[in-house]
Amino acid sequence: MRLAPSPTGYFHVGTARTALFNWILAKQDPEGVFILRVEDTDPARNREEWVEAIFAAMAWLGLDYTGPFRQSENAPAHAAALEALVASGALYYCDCTPGEVEARKGAGATPGYDGFCRERHLARTERTALRFRTPDEGTVVVPDLVRGDVAFPLGAIDDFVVARSSGEALYALANVVDDRDDAITHVVRGEEHLANAPKQMMLWRALNAATGREVPTPLFAHLPLLVNAQRKKLSKRRDPVALESYRDQGYVVGAVLNYLALLGWSPRGDDEIVDMDTIVEQFRLEDVSHSPAFFDVRKLTAFNGAHIRQLSPYQFARACWPWVDPRDVPWRPTGYRPAWREEEFDEALYARVLPLIHERVARLDEVPAMVDFFFLEEPAYDEAAFDKAIRHDPRATDVLEAARRAYGALAEFGADALHATTLEVAEANGLTLRKAQAPIRCAVTGRLVGPPLFESLALLGRERTLARLAGALARAT
Ligand code: GLU
Repeated sequence: MRLAPSPTGYFHVGTARTALFNWILAKQDPEGVFILRVEDTDPARNREEWVEAIFAAMAWLGLDYTGPFRQSENAPAHAAALEALVASGALYYCDCTPGEVEARKGAGATPGYDGFCRERHLARTERTALRFRTPDEGTVVVPDLVRGDVAFPLGAIDDFVVARSSGEALYALANVVDDRDDAITHVVRGEEHLANAPKQMMLWRALNAATGREVPTPLFAHLPLLVNAQRKKLSKRRDPVALESYRDQGYVVGAVLNYLALLGWSPRGDDEIVDMDTIVEQFRLEDVSHSPAFFDVRKLTAFNGAHIRQLSPYQFARACWPWVDPRDVPWRPTGYRPAWREEEFDEALYARVLPLIHERVARLDEVPAMVDFFFLEEPAYDEAAFDKAIRHDPRATDVLEAARRAYGALAEFGADALHATTLEVAEANGLTLRKAQAPIRCAVTGRLVGPPLFESLALLGRERTLARLAGALARAT
């Protein structure tokens, strides 16, 4: 099993699913090995930062692997393979430019190379690429564990290029040489590679023949395409496909893995929220569907909430840490820093605040807005909320005044007492408890939604609560 990503951009959620499925298969097989091979042989498109992004993504996913290997390290083997294939007659040199091919074929002809150099027996020059001599007739059958045998008529496959004029092996060949060298038994990857499979099968067999080293061709499994709500293929431009962006938004890895596993597969039983052990136990490539899988961010978010609720208080605290602790932390979401300063942050208070929000969080990036009022000296007032709940509500001032008096007189500043006394304030003002809570919540927290109000006020303490009620009254006029 292997993941063979090219470092040409962000680590795509589809690549994450491919990694996961390969990793699961390796776990299921007592002799299974999961290799990470970075296919870095296209200098024009590869960047070192994307290589780093692959490692970071795999580390975050927690999928362990053998390696990492780099395709570029195997360049001598690619060169040797090319030489053997040339000697066996499987490849030939070609010096046609794309313009020449087009001019010969005329407009409207079938795309692909016309075989012009096939029998020209050119020697290598600095202008010659190497092409594979694809038989004109017959079919290549790709054994695919998801799709069954897929037959490709050879008439539709041209003499494709396997090495540039510089002598550098291209993807199709390098990929096959590496898979043979790495003794890869299963090539599990996205559906977009299905069209490459017959070429790779032919190259594999040609290498077996040319080198006299008979390596069994791998089994393939092409995983269903990921599509968006419009049933269009997920695209970098249209859709959020970078795994990193999900990490930045506070998706927890357990939820992401669970959700990725369901893109084309489903566990037995009704419950879709399952842990990794269950997935490894139940997963079978044969059960993966052919039809496109809808990458549904809303469903992922619901999974995330469910997984967050399953975290222990300690795990939840650790997960929230990068969003809450203003001190140096090992990792932070891109571009994010807590709005409160180190002196404002109170670790003991943080520990007591967490249980109030644990059940309410679907994404960890919601946490700062839920807890900021505990740490900020002055709440971050949402002006629209302040207008609605206080400035433009004629009864708000009375409620805030009454609450201030009542809270000041409480013997004990606890959640139950706050609840009871706020109910009295509401009744005295002819309001429901809910209506009376709105200006109080807004005055103290700056917002209209948040953790349970009375528990929050109790944690914040009498002094800060009263000061904020007074502050809001002053602010309203
Ligand atoms: N390097 C190819 C890619 O990034 C993967 C090829 C494969 O898995 O066979 O899409």
